[in-house]
Amino acid sequence: MVRKKRQKDPFVCPKCGTRVTEPVKTWQLVSPMPDSKGRVTITVMGSFQCPNCGHKWRGVVSKLKVGGGEVEMEVGKKKKKMESTTEPQKEEGEVIELDIDEIDISEEEIEEALGSSD
Ligand SMILES: [Zn+2]
Repeated sequence: MVRKKRQKDPFVCPKCGTRVTEPVKTWQLVSPMPDSKGRVTITVMGSFQCPNCGHKWRGVVSKLKVGGGEVEMEVGKKKKKMESTTEPQKEEGEVIELDIDEIDISEEEIEEALGSSD
């Protein structure tokens, strides 16, 4: 069994352990496949830089599961569930803008990010 994935704090420098307060920048990844409940997972990725040693890394800042009349937000180990106040009436409505230029990440990293909780 290969299971090296651990819940790690994305805000902590993997090199020296310094905790940063916020990511340099964030962007969103939308999983192309809905989960078993038909919800789409939106992963908020962050790019971090350590103020102590200068190391740069990326990590999952939070996850959102949207669909089925509710929104589930996952930040670290905490999960928040919210009722979706607006019923999806039309196809249009919520538009998630993705800044493709901001995405500088390998497919492997995306898969790891999306698969980090199961
Ligand atoms: Zn560091």
